[in-house]
Amino acid sequence: MYDLVIIGAGPAGLTTSIYASCFKLKHLVVAETIGGQLLLAPDILNYPGFTNIAGKELADKMLTQAKMRGGEFLADRVVAITKNSDQTGFLVKDMSANVYETRAVVLASGTERRKLQVPGEMEYTGKGVHYCATCEKQDFDDKICAVVGGANSAVGAAVELAQAAQKVYILYRGSELRGDPVWLEQITNHPKITVLYNTVIIEITGDGERLTSIKLLTNGANSSELKVDKLFIEIGGVPGTALVTQLGVKMDPGGYIQVNERLESSVPGIFAAGDLVTHEYSIEQISTAVGLGARAGASVFAYLKKIKAPSVWGSSQIPR
Ligand SMILES: Cc1cc2nc3c(=O)[nH]c(=O)nc-3n(C[C@H](O)[C@H](O)[C@H](O)COP(=O)(O)OP(=O)(O)OC[C@H]3O[C@@H](n4cnc5c(N)ncnc54)[C@H](O)[C@@H]3O)c2cc1C
Repeated sequence: MYDLVIIGAGPAGLTTSIYASCFKLKHLVVAETIGGQLLLAPDILNYPGFTNIAGKELADKMLTQAKMRGGEFLADRVVAITKNSDQTGFLVKDMSANVYETRAVVLASGTERRKLQVPGEMEYTGKGVHYCATCEKQDFDDKICAVVGGANSAVGAAVELAQAAQKVYILYRGSELRGDPVWLEQITNHPKITVLYNTVIIEITGDGERLTSIKLLTNGANSSELKVDKLFIEIGGVPGTALVTQLGVKMDPGGYIQVNERLESSVPGIFAAGDLVTHEYSIEQISTAVGLGARAGASVFAYLKKIKAPSVWGSSQIPR
């Protein structure tokens, strides 16, 4: 019986593990990828303590620290969480059919890439249609690229692509980009970047082997075709909450996990931290994921004391 199983090893899950160790909680971290979205971020400029650090390096540092403090890690995908037989905890099942019993769960499984849901998207995914510009280590020399989206990830992708591409279009359904000023100033008057506002993609077409063009609708009426070699869909993520819907965990209207200030979900013993938590607490950044992870570790300890879990009952442990 574990005190805690943490699902996910992005910054939220890794920090929860570090804090769980501070409270001497017997815990297991199960994660498909160690580092989560950090692995996709080449240059992190806004994480305190580092003027510029590659996401992979930051993930490695967090993992080293979590393991040094006593965290146990397993690389696998969790496929189900159910109540245990006497309803005092949970059973966490992974893809390899291993089952782990635990008194509490912290769900730190982040978000999955949002899809456009237009004809041709599935067919050309990986054949010119991609969901992360920074992850594609391809040669963009003289290519015509389009990026869908209006927030930091789309604007940042456009700037990065424009270093090599012949032309980059940003396609945005709104009338004003939502990126941070630090990103927006980089595209203002950029010779290779053009923003098409009030524009949506209605179809992705190709020659069967690869993407060749996209059909656009502007201002809800005017349709046109744009020849592109690469299309990057950078429209954010969908919270990965499927594992806990059957348990009755409540979501907010955006599909993010509804938690209280102690990061408790609506089901006692299930906590959440990181990008999948309601935006009342998270802004989908590393620093918020880390902060929520720390709080989740402390809250699980308080919960275990409240339910008089034998491993912590009577302990006056405070985090160090
Ligand atoms: C390209 C890119 C650049 C970015 N740049 C920055 C930046 O410069 N600064 C910044 O602050 N933020 C940046 N971000 C955002 C930041 O990376 C995220 O906010 C942060 O990683 C969220 O942390 P998390 O722990 O909540 O989730 P994630 O990092 O998404 O981690 C989720 C974890 O859950 C695991 N998981 C999911 N489902 C399962 C399952 N069923 N079973 C087991 N494991 C599962 C995953 O494998 C992973 O380990 C960037 C994101 C991207 C994509």
